[in-house]
Amino acid sequence: MLNLENVSKSFKPPSSFGRELLSLISRKEIGGSVHAVRGLSLRVKPGQILGLVGESGSGKSTLGRIMCGLYRPNTGKVVFEGRDLDSLNKKERQRLSLKIQFMFQDPASSLNPRIRCGAALSEGLVIHGLGNRLERREKVCHLMEEVGLSPKLIDRYPHQFSGGQRQRLSLARALSLDPSLLIADEPASAIDVSIQAQIINLLLDLKAKRGLTMVLISHDLPLVCLMADQIAVMYGGLLMEVFPRSLLGQVDHHPYVKALWASADFASSQKITLEGEPPDPLNPPPGCPFHPRCLEAVDICASLCPPMLPLGSDHFCACHLRK
Ligand code: SF4
Repeated sequence: MLNLENVSKSFKPPSSFGRELLSLISRKEIGGSVHAVRGLSLRVKPGQILGLVGESGSGKSTLGRIMCGLYRPNTGKVVFEGRDLDSLNKKERQRLSLKIQFMFQDPASSLNPRIRCGAALSEGLVIHGLGNRLERREKVCHLMEEVGLSPKLIDRYPHQFSGGQRQRLSLARALSLDPSLLIADEPASAIDVSIQAQIINLLLDLKAKRGLTMVLISHDLPLVCLMADQIAVMYGGLLMEVFPRSLLGQVDHHPYVKALWASADFASSQKITLEGEPPDPLNPPPGCPFHPRCLEAVDICASLCPPMLPLGSDHFCACHLRK
């Protein structure tokens, strides 16, 4: 359904004044570009849930925005249902935006506090000229029911909803245009653990009911492993490993994936502590981006970035020691 081919995205610091301000705040020289995504290829199959995992700053949210056309990559191609997004004209891009929807990370900031729930959910329908006022209101009521909210709450403002309810609103808004691909950025990070399970179950139910394809972006590997069919792990703007869920724990995983899993598995006897900081996107280290923190690093790791190699069906790994 969606193919990313050698996609890169970097951002320039805003202005010389912005750079000076950032330098003052971070107490270090800010120059050059932020390399958020660096030459990455990935495939999303129809009907599948692809889990995109990584620490903060790994580039996963930027990649999600590239997938749905919110960001244009500096290099590489994004092909959706056989069409290169870059080759589309304005009208075609608008039509495409009906099919791919993005569910933003923090519903408290992505919902306009001055717009009532009903207007927020029908915004996309208005922009695309779908239905009249009555039909749009009916559709919004139906969407609210679908995500487990009472249509009686249609005239409330976002602050009058709880965190979990706002997450449901955010989901309803993303589904309002009946997309075929839903990209959900940290859908369970801004809510209590007890509510997380409800949101996860709701996403799974809706996926089955609507036949959705999903990209689930999260820093939480165990959570992604609960839901996803295919798991892609990012670090420093690059993919480290891509594998089907069925292979979890069955193969010798990438050292970063092993460390992520061990740090989340409280019952594990094999404790691996991930020390150090993620790489600076302004100045990524040479060689394998994980080498300053990797317990298995060898000499070549500091100078040569390992290519992503196939290790089996749907299993790819970028590590000099996994071939
Ligand atoms: Fe570790 Fe080297 Fe593999 Fe990178 S290439 S994950 S540094 S062993």
